[in-house]
Amino acid sequence: MSQTEYSTKTIHIVGAGLAGTECALKLADLGHNVILYEMRPQVSTPAHRTSHCAELVCSNSLGSLLEPTAPAQLKWEMEKLGSQVLKCAIDARVPAGQALSVDREIFSRSLTKLVDENPRIKRVSKVIESLDEIGRPAVIATGPLTHPSLSKCLQEHFGGDFLYFFDAIAPIIDTDSINMDICFKKSRYDKGGADYINCPLDKEQYFEFVEEIKSAQVVVPKDFENTPYFESCLPIEVIVSRGPLTLAFGPCKPKGLRDPRTGRDPFAVVQLRQENKFGTAYNMVGFQTKMTYPEQKRVFKMIPGLENADFLKLGSIHRNLFINTPQLLTPKLSSKTDPLLFFAGQITGVEGYFESTTTGMLVALTIDSFLKDLKIQRPPQTSALGALLNAITESKENFQPTNINWGLFPPLPMTKKVDKKAAHTLRAREDFTRWHSDNSLKQHPFLDFCYFSQ
Ligand SMILES: Cc1cc2nc3c(=O)[nH]c(=O)nc-3n(C[C@H](O)[C@H](O)[C@H](O)COP(=O)(O)OP(=O)(O)OC[C@H]3O[C@@H](n4cnc5c(N)ncnc54)[C@H](O)[C@@H]3O)c2cc1C
Repeated sequence: MSQTEYSTKTIHIVGAGLAGTECALKLADLGHNVILYEMRPQVSTPAHRTSHCAELVCSNSLGSLLEPTAPAQLKWEMEKLGSQVLKCAIDARVPAGQALSVDREIFSRSLTKLVDENPRIKRVSKVIESLDEIGRPAVIATGPLTHPSLSKCLQEHFGGDFLYFFDAIAPIIDTDSINMDICFKKSRYDKGGADYINCPLDKEQYFEFVEEIKSAQVVVPKDFENTPYFESCLPIEVIVSRGPLTLAFGPCKPKGLRDPRTGRDPFAVVQLRQENKFGTAYNMVGFQTKMTYPEQKRVFKMIPGLENADFLKLGSIHRNLFINTPQLLTPKLSSKTDPLLFFAGQITGVEGYFESTTTGMLVALTIDSFLKDLKIQRPPQTSALGALLNAITESKENFQPTNINWGLFPPLPMTKKVDKKAAHTLRAREDFTRWHSDNSLKQHPFLDFCYFSQ
């Protein structure tokens, strides 16, 4: 089919959640006709309660607006692209300190109104059970609670084990905040390079650490999340509950990790593995956890060498549904075997309300450029959108969902003394602005709403 024929084509979007709604509104704004399929209210998910578009299923916060943070930078960029989800969030904002929190009813009602009043969008209440039911171009934005018939169909489409039903995320730490006067670099039995950073614990430190994990507060799972864990990625608190030494024989095994400072094997070792190719971030090996965020910070800072750790991301385990995007999708987030079948939202391996929204925007821009035969470059990797897109599309050994954090950005050419976060923000803005103007993207009237500054 030629480009011209496509330009008159309707775009089929499945899922009127955050990503699907943003994608539909953007495509309509760019002059395309869209059918937006949403299964609610006919069929709901275990977490949704209404039939509104972009319903927030849990917290009412879309993350930080405080500068200079990576989530604030992502919002800054989305504002420049005319994000309607962001605009409605600002309009529905409730006082919540540095966070962009919303009155969820006003927020999703206003997005539903925008969708329903848009002459280019037809919202259809229907469960899509198979990829054959919809035309192309299509966008699957059905989220972590995708209807089981469609997830079965997706599994068949991708084959094998390439669709995941749970995530298991370990905390990620800024390399510069690791105390290398205490930690040491080494691989077990010196096999391979000195690739890991090892945090040594003596006996007393280990048992104190175990006691704190045992008593730490954890996030209570929702009923539908109560599924047995995989033995190979148990939460750290479950490992600890099996006995005081289980951790020392499991993820904290010290064998082959002699501390060069003492010349002895430590009693236990927490290993950190390089997270990104830049070496600016390390993850805690085997430390997937359901401990609450404040508890993770408190307990993990007890680990020798991590007393000043700057956690770029904290650990979690959720029921989720996501594709092994680096292996199965193109850099434009479409299926490698069906290039006009796009994916957006949490299903692509991003994590969080706002991150999900951004992939809806990116896919809309890609489809628009395809249909109009325009060339659009990827956002620069130094921008928040580019860093996030890169994180979910570049190949990785153990692909796990990610939110936006500074660990996804290329390192800065500077010393430790400079305010890294401010420098990241400045570079992201300059590079994003250049990309925005080079690609002739439409400017939007509601630019520069008020941000917090530190
Ligand atoms: C229980 C739970 C709590 C969460 N809490 C938070 C939180 O507090 N903060 C946060 O930032 N993130 C949270 N998330 C993660 C995630 O950011 C949200 O799930 C987010 O809504 C994802 O956006 P999305 O557009 O990808 O999917 P969704 O917003 O879930 O939208 C997907 C839509 O697709 C519809 N759908 C599914 N299958 C079909 C089908 N076959 N046919 C037609 N329609 C279909 C669904 O009804 C839904 O409306 C949570 C996730 C879950 C599961």
